[in-house]
Amino acid sequence: MVDFGPGQDKLAMPLTTIMGRIIISPVSTINYYFNTDYYQWMAQHETELKNIHNMNWWRAQKNEEERNMPRHANRSYNWIPNRIIKIRDKLIETQLSYLFGDKDWNEKPFSNDLNCRHCDVYMEDISEYISKVTNSLDDIWNWHNDDQKDFEPSLQQVLDFYDDKYPELVKEKARLNLPTYGSRTMVGHINGFCHVCWEDIIKPQLGWDNRLV
Ligand SMILES: [Zn+2]
Repeated sequence: MVDFGPGQDKLAMPLTTIMGRIIISPVSTINYYFNTDYYQWMAQHETELKNIHNMNWWRAQKNEEERNMPRHANRSYNWIPNRIIKIRDKLIETQLSYLFGDKDWNEKPFSNDLNCRHCDVYMEDISEYISKVTNSLDDIWNWHNDDQKDFEPSLQQVLDFYDDKYPELVKEKARLNLPTYGSRTMVGHINGFCHVCWEDIIKPQLGWDNRLV
């Protein structure tokens, strides 16, 4: 916590951390009350954080042995070893803890018996809604024979049928889990967030903070 003291103008005072290399622009709108540990941690992982959404960069971190492993059905040239995925996951988890605090979501990574940490939608409700939509779609849509052009109208018919049966929040937060032509999705939270909150709100906050120079 940075204490600027009474009467001091926060914005007139650049903040330099103990690392000596992170300087927050005095005109930025950054929240000065983050713990400086966070900035120190960011500085220590600058390259990784700058590339957090760049899967090509992570793929390039393969070691000699991993690069030389023979390809097989589950290991295309696009493959990223679990070792590397875990490093990235750990960074994301740590950053989420700095930004949003720790919650018990970590204890049930594969359960939907929890509420989205951001919008509070109950994940089981999304799961139930999606499974009803998918089952009803199966009644009117033949995944093997029907024309692609008929897919959207069929889906819309099903969505209309359930429209007054689920709250707006559930329908809105389920939109990224709806079946698409050629695929169905599983409903699961992402680090405790529903898919919509994750994509729209949380993911953009991950990685390097460009207000740091
Ligand atoms: Zn949410």
